[in-house]
Amino acid sequence: MTSKTHKIKHSDTRLKIIFLLCFVIANTLVFVVTELNKRQRINLAIDASVENLQTQFNVINRFHQKDSKAIYLATQDNQKIQEILLQLKNADKKKKDVLRRQLYNQLKNRYEFMKFKGVLQYHFVLPDNTTFLRMHKPTKYGDDLSEIRYSFANTNKTHEPTLGFEQGKTAHAFRNTYPVFDKDGNYLCALDIGYGSEVIQTHLTEINRLHTHFLVHKKIFSVKTWERKDLKLKYIQSIEHKDYMFAITKQHTPERLNKTKRFLTPSHKENIQQNMDAGKSFGIYILRDKKATIAAFKPIHNIKEQQVVAYLVSYKPDWFIDTTILLTKIVRLILFLLLSALFYYIYKNVLAAQKEKEFSFELEQKVKTRTQELEIQKVRAEDVAKKLETMASKDFLTDLYNRRFFADIANNTINLAKRQTKGFSSLMIDIDKFKKVNDTYGHSTGDEVLKNLASVLTKNTRASDIVARFGGEEFVILLPDTDIAGAKIIAQKIRQRVESKSLQIHGASINYTISIGISQFNKNIDSVIDTVLDRADKALYEAKNSGRNRVFAVHE
Ligand code: GH3
Ligand code: MG
Ligand code: MG
Repeated sequence: MTSKTHKIKHSDTRLKIIFLLCFVIANTLVFVVTELNKRQRINLAIDASVENLQTQFNVINRFHQKDSKAIYLATQDNQKIQEILLQLKNADKKKKDVLRRQLYNQLKNRYEFMKFKGVLQYHFVLPDNTTFLRMHKPTKYGDDLSEIRYSFANTNKTHEPTLGFEQGKTAHAFRNTYPVFDKDGNYLCALDIGYGSEVIQTHLTEINRLHTHFLVHKKIFSVKTWERKDLKLKYIQSIEHKDYMFAITKQHTPERLNKTKRFLTPSHKENIQQNMDAGKSFGIYILRDKKATIAAFKPIHNIKEQQVVAYLVSYKPDWFIDTTILLTKIVRLILFLLLSALFYYIYKNVLAAQKEKEFSFELEQKVKTRTQELEIQKVRAEDVAKKLETMASKDFLTDLYNRRFFADIANNTINLAKRQTKGFSSLMIDIDKFKKVNDTYGHSTGDEVLKNLASVLTKNTRASDIVARFGGEEFVILLPDTDIAGAKIIAQKIRQRVESKSLQIHGASINYTISIGISQFNKNIDSVIDTVLDRADKALYEAKNSGRNRVFAVHE
């Protein structure tokens, strides 16, 4: 594997990592966006629920206030009631008991009707803040409420209505305390027409199908009312907040409370407690058996300090949140699948392009290598061809041209000479008594003699002359542009060189001579070299016959 393919493999892994990262980022983005959208929608639903609880409560409360005012006015304007109340001013205890009984009888039927409309308390308190008559508990009277019932104290003091939520000694209520005057405008007493929280809860259930909890803060109880078993309205610990008590009614039982309890997780509780401590109007959603339920919290302030002392909490299943959660899941799944498909598609394409690149690179490499191999082969072939050519044209021992190559060149020279006027001569050279040299000194020494003669012949001729070994100890020289006379001079020069030199071969001193036959090209009779050489051979024969170590020329 080359370094580049290494790189490609490496970048392949990098590509995978980049794709995986992008895929994770894209999915995270999808998650974040869908999560934000989901939360926004859920918050909208929660806000709507909180708003709804607030509105429903206000409607009922307003209705109670109006109703209580009508009752108050009807009470104040009643002739008989006025007469009874007017007599109270200077009445002793006995007289008061008589008047109380008269008033009770007067109001008995009216109170039954009022209870039907949701009134809990119908309560007359004298200007000194002592109870004159509780229609809901006529046997208990004469107690001083100055410290424990701000609404009476306030109305008695200001002669103004005092409206709002208040915890009494044994029960809480939405008080509507009015000042009662006689016809002349003299203040007679304070009258409270109070509504319990239960009636509000019942209304909410009947009108809006809202299940509610009514919670009261422990701090506003002067006595631990929840420890008393004789009271109509009882309390147990709230599941929402440790400092609040839950008001028990027929519809709002501890058993039912326990059912809701297990759906409130510690984190829900923490959230609720924080918001309740801050006195906020708020909502949360909880999952009851995988179904969303919105818990909306409406704070209720007491009359005196306008502090949050109670909470109305509604629990309502919400299909909008269920749908939102389901839709979010579906959208996420669809987007996940789409993204997976998209990334897979892009990845495959990029990878394919990469592979193609890799493949074409490998191919390119292969072609390059093959080309190099072929080039090497070509060079080798050329070498071989050259060698073969050399082998074909040269004599192995002397490195002179061989007879065949000489014949080729010589024939070419004839063709050239025929067209031009120039001629040429040829020398046929033969070593004298060479056999004897071989016999005396051995064949290898004979070879050295042959090489020596070759060297002498080359050195004493021109570059344009062609020297060749004709065979055995015979050599031939073609002398272009040379006539017989010129050839004789060269032949003599060569013969003399050979004769004059003594060779030192393998420790022996050897002297040898040569005979040379000369002929010249005759364009009238010579069409090939053979005829020229035949005449040179004849001349050589003559040279041998006439005593050797001499030059003989044929003048034809
Ligand atoms: P002459 O003077 O008549 O030419 O006598 P010669 O002995 O030279 O003539 P001959 O033709 O009878 O002998 C030639 C000898 O040359 C025969 C052969 O052994 C020898 N010869 C031919 N080729 C080679 C060669 O390549 N190397 C060696 N060492 N000897 C060779
Ligand atoms: Mg010979
Ligand atoms: Mg010879």
